Amino acid sequence: MQATLTFLGSGTSMGVPTLGCTCAVCTSTDPHNKRTRPSIAVQWEGHTVIIDTGQEFRLQALREGITHVDAVLYTHGHADHILGMDDLRPLSFKNTGRTPLYGDAETLAVLRRVFEYTFRTEDRYPTSARVELCALGTEIGEKVDIFGIPFERVPVMHGHQAIAGYRFGSAAYLTDMSDIPDASRERLQGIDILILDALRREPHPTHAHLVKSVEIAQNLAAKRTFFTHISHDLDHETTNASLPDNIRLAYDGLRLEFEIA
Ligand SMILES: [Zn+2]
Ligand SMILES: [Zn+2]
Ligand SMILES: [Zn+2]
Repeated sequence: MQATLTFLGSGTSMGVPTLGCTCAVCTSTDPHNKRTRPSIAVQWEGHTVIIDTGQEFRLQALREGITHVDAVLYTHGHADHILGMDDLRPLSFKNTGRTPLYGDAETLAVLRRVFEYTFRTEDRYPTSARVELCALGTEIGEKVDIFGIPFERVPVMHGHQAIAGYRFGSAAYLTDMSDIPDASRERLQGIDILILDALRREPHPTHAHLVKSVEIAQNLAAKRTFFTHISHDLDHETTNASLPDNIRLAYDGLRLEFEIA
């Protein structure tokens, strides 16, 4: 079964252009260098699953014509991955039940704290998002079935923190990753589309840098690899020209077709 994967955002937590910066990438006229906070939409047979809702979720959904969301999977609780949750409100009202938000216990605890008025059991704000927190375990192989498609947790290291990457069909989305444990690498063999964090040129404590991401991509040997969570350090065109043929920087609005089942 064919599915479409759309990059809602491909930028790092600060976004590109970065506030207060006048570097060549931040002032570039190339639209590929305009990067909103990282998120993807996975769509098949009329279903839409979103991974992470950052600060620009509303603008991203308008841009891509997303008119309904069946479920959201969260990778972790950092601002650039969760702060757009409240913008699910109008879409959640269209669904019959509560829209499930999947994540590990740590991530759900952050959502519960940040959006306290949404999740309190008494005196809940009447028009808050009609969503439901659904806990996923942290074990490798933990998965949730969404309309018959398993979305499997593939743990990655984000500095010292183990967070969720997700594999679905022949694709995997691994944002905010500084390394991938061996057991997770085994779950990523033979896939068609691999999406990896590649922040900048210099090493960083919690994100893979370009050389390391290329090394991981070559080790996992997916048919095609796309980098995301990109800072203003990487110009789209010149960076792409330096990469192997099957590795590319993602950009906002990039759409990929892949086999989901
Ligand atoms: Zn992030
Ligand atoms: Zn800049
Ligand atoms: Zn993060």
